[in-house]
Amino acid sequence: MSDRKQHLDTRAVHAGVYNDDTHGSITTPIYPSSTFSFPTPGEPPHFNYGRVDHPTREALQQNLASLEGGHRAWACVSGMAAIQAVLFLLKSGDHVVCGRDAYAGTLRLFLRVLRRFEIQFSLVEMENEEAVRAAVRPETKMIWIETPTNPMMRVVDIAVMTAFARERGLISVVDNTFLTPVFQRPFELGADIIIHSTTKYLNGHSDVMGGAVICRDETYADEIEYIIASVGLGQGPFDTWLVLRGVKTLGARMKAHQENAIKIAEFLSEREEIRSVNFPGLPDFPQKEVVERQQSGPGGMLSFELETEKVDPIRFVKAVRIFQLAVSLGGVESLIELPFSMSHSSMEEEEKYSAGLKPELVRLSPGIEATEDLIEDLDQALRAAAL
Ligand code: PLP
Repeated sequence: MSDRKQHLDTRAVHAGVYNDDTHGSITTPIYPSSTFSFPTPGEPPHFNYGRVDHPTREALQQNLASLEGGHRAWACVSGMAAIQAVLFLLKSGDHVVCGRDAYAGTLRLFLRVLRRFEIQFSLVEMENEEAVRAAVRPETKMIWIETPTNPMMRVVDIAVMTAFARERGLISVVDNTFLTPVFQRPFELGADIIIHSTTKYLNGHSDVMGGAVICRDETYADEIEYIIASVGLGQGPFDTWLVLRGVKTLGARMKAHQENAIKIAEFLSEREEIRSVNFPGLPDFPQKEVVERQQSGPGGMLSFELETEKVDPIRFVKAVRIFQLAVSLGGVESLIELPFSMSHSSMEEEEKYSAGLKPELVRLSPGIEATEDLIEDLDQALRAAAL
């Protein structure tokens, strides 16, 4: 049905999806069974117990491995569960280098939970190779790359980071949630492991929590599988089925999200109420050269700072009518939020400011609605919140 030479749009629809022999169903059935019968004691069936794996999850996992061009994938209960699975590769005393403006939930797990287990983290400006080199210690085991960063949209040069990781024997991990394999292919840039919050674009309909770990080759695959089964991080049948359904339209949706983001970024850049727009698709984006080298498009996410003398941030985000005021991203419906007090509220104020995150920063996740309607919505909200 699907092979790796096919276009991503074709694999998104077919990879891992198999026909149900009983009735010729063209979609993968949901198998809610938590346990599967043994033909005889000591001879476990291929699927044995739902925590370890189940047929619906296996279909999604094959699909995700194919989309990222990886060896194997695991579907997890959330993006954070996927991140946790990868961090379980480490032990106390190990050290990780991570970008200072990674997703706030990732930083919370690293700094407030895993530090209790004596895993150490250094947060650095990952756009700056020298800062990463300076942060590496003898105990460093992993480099955690998120690009573009959330919500500042800074771009990290994946090939430079993974080359450095290889040189120093470190595991390189890329959180590819923002761009998805449609716009960024971390394995082709040398990454060892990719993680996703499938809650976002891969599912794309804001109706399920999910995550994924994908390994480029067998190096960490058996260990990751063992961790996910032992800790119980794998996704259940209904949720995996929803992600498998959502991912089929990934290619079409990402093009629509990106098209909207480009037009909205252009619109905002011209407005005097906007101080700056962070979007890799703008001509004056500071890291344009890296974007052109490692991304096949700017993606669908953007953020911008409001001129606080001209517009009130709280009134602005409450005045929108199509955009909805909510955290998360990547769904077909447009979302707006203030990261300082919403998605990134778990960070200390000092951490937020040092990552460049101000109260007047607005993050947009444009959906797939008509561009003119979204621009008209932002325009009327800017006027409604004018000071
Ligand atoms: N990675 C990124 C870039 C995210 O934005 C998020 C959530 O917003 C996560 C990981 C965590 O995913 P989840 O909320 O599915 O646990």
